[in-house]
Order: sequence, then C-alpha cells, then structure tokens
Amino acid sequence: MTRLFGTNGIRGVVGEEMTPDLAHRVGRAAGLLWRGQPVAVGNDTRTSGPMLKAAVIAGLTAAGCQVSDLGGSPSPGVQLYVKEHDVVGGVIVTASHNPPEFNGLKVLDAEGMELPRTTEEEIERLYFENAFEAPSWNTVGDVYRVKGANRRYRDAILEQVDREAIRKRAFRVVLDCANGASSFTSPYVLRALGCRVLTLNAQPDGTFPGHPPEPRPEHLEEMIALVGETGADLGAAHDGDADRVVFADEEGGYVYGDRSLALVAGHVVAKAGGGTVVTPVSSSSCVEDTVRAAGGQVTYTPVGAPLVARKMFETQATFGGEENGGLIFPQHQYTRDGALGLAVMLEILASGKETLSTRLQKLPMYHLVKGRLPCPPGSRGEVMDALARHVAGRKVDRTDGLKVFYEAGWVLVRPSGTEAIIRVFSEGKTPQDAQRLYDEVMGTLEEIKASL
Ligand code: MG
Repeated sequence: MTRLFGTNGIRGVVGEEMTPDLAHRVGRAAGLLWRGQPVAVGNDTRTSGPMLKAAVIAGLTAAGCQVSDLGGSPSPGVQLYVKEHDVVGGVIVTASHNPPEFNGLKVLDAEGMELPRTTEEEIERLYFENAFEAPSWNTVGDVYRVKGANRRYRDAILEQVDREAIRKRAFRVVLDCANGASSFTSPYVLRALGCRVLTLNAQPDGTFPGHPPEPRPEHLEEMIALVGETGADLGAAHDGDADRVVFADEEGGYVYGDRSLALVAGHVVAKAGGGTVVTPVSSSSCVEDTVRAAGGQVTYTPVGAPLVARKMFETQATFGGEENGGLIFPQHQYTRDGALGLAVMLEILASGKETLSTRLQKLPMYHLVKGRLPCPPGSRGEVMDALARHVAGRKVDRTDGLKVFYEAGWVLVRPSGTEAIIRVFSEGKTPQDAQRLYDEVMGTLEEIKASL
C-alpha cells in the first residue's frame, strides 16, 4: 500500500496529486473513522482552498459528520477551535510554506494535534480500499458556517502573555504575513499589544504576490530593509498557514530559527522555574545549553513537528520547538503557533531594556554545516549499519538516524523520508570544527558507498 501522509500531513500539487477526488475520499475515510460525529474544517489563503475544502466537507457529511466550517484561519486557529469545542477532530486545508500550486490536508484529533501514525494508517486503509457506501438522504450531516473563530484565537494569544508589560513599551514591529492566513490574526494581535505595526503582504491572496510563503531570508528582504529604515524594535514573518514565525533583530539581521528557539525556550523555562523542553535531534546545542542554564532539561525526538507535539503531550513538557520557527506552548495548545511565538518574543523584549540583537549575542554560539549524499533507498540500511560500525566506541544517539558526538561537536546522519538521499548535519563551536567533522563523516560515507 502506498502512503498518503508525509511528515506533515498530505501534500501535493493541485490537479496532480492533490485533487478534489482525493480530498473527498480522505473526508469519507476520516468521517467513517469519526463515526459521523461533529468535526471542524478550515483553510489557509490558497486559491484551491475553497474547492478542496468543499470536497472534504462532501466526504465528511456523506459519512454523517456535522461540519463546522471556520473559513480562512491560521492552522493554530483551527487547532485551538478543535481543542476548545465538542468536536472529535478536524481537517485543515493547507500546504503551509509550499509554493502556490501546492495544497494539502492536515487531519487533527480531538486535541487539535495532528493524528498519530496509527490513525493515519487507518485512514489510508479506508482511502485505498475505496469501498464507501452511497450516502442516504436521512443520514448525511449538516454544514455550519462558524464566525468568530479567528477572534477567539486572537484573544487566546493575548491571555498567554504579560499584556501590560508589552503595551507599556509600545514596540514598533514590522510584520510580513506572506499573504497567508496570519493576515486574519497577527496584525490584530500586535495592535492589541500596543505595538506600532507596519504590515507587509497582509492581504490574503493565494497567488502569494509578495513572495513565496516560506519565511527564508531571501524572501524577506523587504521586511528586513523596512526594519532598518523605520528603526523598528523587531521584524517578524510567518509562513503561509502561520504555525511558524521567524524574526529580524533591530539591526535588520535575520535571526536563524535555532537562535530564536533557544531564546524563547530559555525564557519559558525560566518563567516556569524549570521543566523539560522537547526538540528534534537536529536542533543546535545552543538550545540545550540555554535551557540547562535556565534550570531545565531537554528531550530529543525524531525530526517532525507532529512528533515533537506528541512527545510533549505524553510527557507534559514545558515547551517545545524546531529550528524552522515552529514553537509549541503546551499551556496554550500542543501545536506550533506562530502568533503566540511572536507575542512571547515581545514579552521577552519587554522583560528588560536590551535589544534583540544584544540578547541573541549572549546565547552560546555554534556553527552548522548541512549537506546530502545521494543514496538509493535500497542501500541506505547497509550504509547506516556500516557507519554505525565505523563509529563504534563513540557516544551516539539513535533517536533519528545516527547522531555521533565528538569533542568538537556532533554529526547527524539521517536517511530522508521522501528523497533518495542521506542528510548530513554537523555542528561545532567554530566554523572550522563543523566543516572538519562534516568532511570526515561525509568522506567515510562515500567510502562505504563505494565499497558496496
Ligand atoms: Mg506551516
């Protein structure tokens, strides 16, 4: 059986993999699993969103589900609605940061979290069997258009931070919504926090006329320039479905996600008086150093936001996140939340007089080298086994692939879940250390591959 779900739900190019037929059948399968109970749906700003959502709703109502349609909303807004209401699950029509031709489906459990793999497999089984019974006139579900989900989401964000402390500072913030779902929420959150807000690309538009909806430095040149030109305290940008947030400091420097993750993790742990932070094994040691200094500890997971969230839920962790700007605040909900990440960053700035760049300079500094080795899926197992034998005697972590620790840093070697490659990340205290470790392990991997 082929898989339908990847590491972050179902994704594909509209009209190719991602069709109304697929969306309808996923809706039918999920609706069967949910036994016709109430569910919620929402979508980001993509042009294909209404079409695919209508197909999902047709499938869900055919299975007897009562559907609350929240309309356009950030993913964490839909997730919060599901968590707070008497619904058994939900579907978000979104392709997050992917280009405009993509769309996707995130399927949620009653907590608003993405489904565990076992439930995804049940949906995949029903989907591929494709043996759905024709719906009957007296068993189909209704559809309700719910208003106010975004308003409630905005209020929920404000409840999580020290609103007065932030308001007093009247921060000037440049915010880039990427024409995505944060356009509905984040500008209003910032205004409610007393900020002077300069927005960019804050009108919902699924053609993404401003820039592609992935918050990479090269897409954010306008935002970064505007921070400098206006003397802003902070620049911020969301991805298309607003579950992530990245920052620029007051000097117009792009803040890499591992730095903002470490800063926020340290703040949350210090505020809580300790606790556990959950993050993937690929995260910078900067995170663990900062968390330990604040009196907390770190638990590692395989790479993938749903795995981090699930681990946090199971262990009642204090905070979690990824180096791509995905930050999870469990007292709010067990999902990444871009708007809350932004509000907490303002709370951090409000907690002292130092600027963001000064605060970031105080974090431990590490350097990362990333690369990849082409490797057919058939020989990955052998390559990884041979590498494990080669590094026998060293400290290793097998949470995801093989993470090998050296005096000067670590190297993580991970077969990709979707491509015929093995990913190699190395981290060191200096750029030279990181490069040397990378070259050493990559050399070993190439020798192993050549000997097969
Ligand atoms: Mg996203």
